[in-house]
Amino acid sequence: MSGFTCKICGQSSTLLYENLFDDRYGYPGKFSVYRCSTCGFGQTDPLLTPAALGKLYTDYYPRKNITVDEVRRSVTWRPGTLARWKRWLQGVNNTCHYHVTPNSKVLDIGCGNGASLLDIQAQGAEAVGTEEDRNVEPIAKALHLQIHFGDVSTSTYADQSFDFITMSQLLEHIPDPAAFLKRVSQKLKPTGQIIMSFPNIDGWNRRHSGRRWINWHIPYHINFFTPKSIRLLADQSGLKLMSLQTITPNVWVQLQSLANRHTAIEGQPSAFWSPDQGSEKSSMAKRLSSILALAMSYLCVPITRWRDWRHQGDSWLVVLSK
Ligand SMILES: [Zn+2]
Repeated sequence: MSGFTCKICGQSSTLLYENLFDDRYGYPGKFSVYRCSTCGFGQTDPLLTPAALGKLYTDYYPRKNITVDEVRRSVTWRPGTLARWKRWLQGVNNTCHYHVTPNSKVLDIGCGNGASLLDIQAQGAEAVGTEEDRNVEPIAKALHLQIHFGDVSTSTYADQSFDFITMSQLLEHIPDPAAFLKRVSQKLKPTGQIIMSFPNIDGWNRRHSGRRWINWHIPYHINFFTPKSIRLLADQSGLKLMSLQTITPNVWVQLQSLANRHTAIEGQPSAFWSPDQGSEKSSMAKRLSSILALAMSYLCVPITRWRDWRHQGDSWLVVLSK
């Protein structure tokens, strides 16, 4: 296909990259990214059929066998000024649920194993979630977490009942983001906020790393937003754009610098994304280069946060209201 219509603004899109592939888990096939000449929105082509999507996430996505204790230990929220500075230093404030307030009612969409709900509870707020993956059901039960399995529209959560709806790194996976946001916003109180994060196609890492940008994450990621396209999306969904900033997690800087030096092969799981692969010697070398890349990501913090401030960071953090 030489070009097609932008799903956000309806104008024409042109080819940005072709022959991209799953450079992490080895799902076979080549994909292209098209970019809208008007709103800058990027979209992956072809889209997978629902059947192929099911196979993609079942067979090619690493479902870690995490235990209840590990989920309990993975609670990352800490109160206090020092912890706030640490989150800034690490660049983890693109985690949407870090921005909720105590005594509020929060819905986290795509809550995974439920660690985010424990985080929200640790902040003194009430937390429920939705998740597509039923494999985490035993964990939810053991931790007494309220998680609806399936789309938010099929949940029994009351309309207009949440102060915050959070969606970390989710919208880039959703085939029809406008229809999705409309469904989600029904659950929001008139005074509530939707907080969401997703990769930045205009960020420095994307421009600098080109085809090797870790957030292409083809074919799992299908939407790549710009400020103009996110404004249009908010309008279409009947929502207001309240704020928009970019934040780059240090761990993304670390992973990008490693990915830039690694060549992936189509149809093969990458040794880089699967730490268990390779000999003991090569795994020692991998560990060492990983530590060096992490140290470099901390040394780069002044530059990274400066880029974040200029909207050139790797993740958007967006707040919408009714
Ligand atoms: Zn467009």
